[in-house]
Amino acid sequence: MKYKRILLKLSGESLMGDKQYGIDSDRVLQYARDIKAVFDKGIEIAIVIGGGNIFRGLSAEKSGMDRVQADYMGMLATVINSMALQDALEKLSVKTRLMTAIKMEQICEPFIRRRAVRHLEKRRIVIFGAGTGNPYFTTDTCASLRAIEVQADVVLKGTRVDGIYTADPEKFPEAVKYDEITFQEVYDRGLNVMDMTAFTLCQENKLPIIVFDMNKPGNFMRIANGDTIGTLVRG
Ligand code: UDP
Repeated sequence: MKYKRILLKLSGESLMGDKQYGIDSDRVLQYARDIKAVFDKGIEIAIVIGGGNIFRGLSAEKSGMDRVQADYMGMLATVINSMALQDALEKLSVKTRLMTAIKMEQICEPFIRRRAVRHLEKRRIVIFGAGTGNPYFTTDTCASLRAIEVQADVVLKGTRVDGIYTADPEKFPEAVKYDEITFQEVYDRGLNVMDMTAFTLCQENKLPIIVFDMNKPGNFMRIANGDTIGTLVRG
């Protein structure tokens, strides 16, 4: 296996499957199976899930809601998704811990970096919920930040496209996929990989990012093995 410790970022939207809103249990189960397969190979796994399938602060602000209030609601949405994935993983007998940036003592542990690292060493999958705990940030930034804090080897961004393209492949069929690209090239070409805060954090801390299609069963294992599917971003 290529990596010892990885951080997997899943968007909230990916949990919807073919639905318009909320959580598709088949999709969550597929993810849990893929994650368990990689975990069983001995890799330590931390996970961050977004909340966009339930609530997004920026969209709520556009319909008149106070942004900070809406962002806290978005953070709570990530906890709902995290609990769904935790449930699916534990059904497969994988030991997990959910740690959140906002205290919710009855359902999860508060995020404490040293404790998170200890969980990983003890072979528990750690899910980080409630984003960074701060409004105006995203779960991509949470993923970069937590990955740096727990010294993960790489951020794996699981999406529904299979990598980074010269243009949006859903709009421009002639777009070409990069197998590898540098942080600087991403800036220069104005490509959209993560939001800029998240991206800059990775660049400054020399943390590589791989964008790949998580919806295809088995892809996560291939990435963990070091196969060159997806797009690798590095310094
Ligand atoms: N959010 C936030 N601070 C954070 C992480 C998330 O305020 O550190 C809020 C924000 O409103 C965001 C929502 O939670 O819109 C859901 O997260 P995100 O949009 O990153 O989810 P994804 O797009 O990955 O589904």
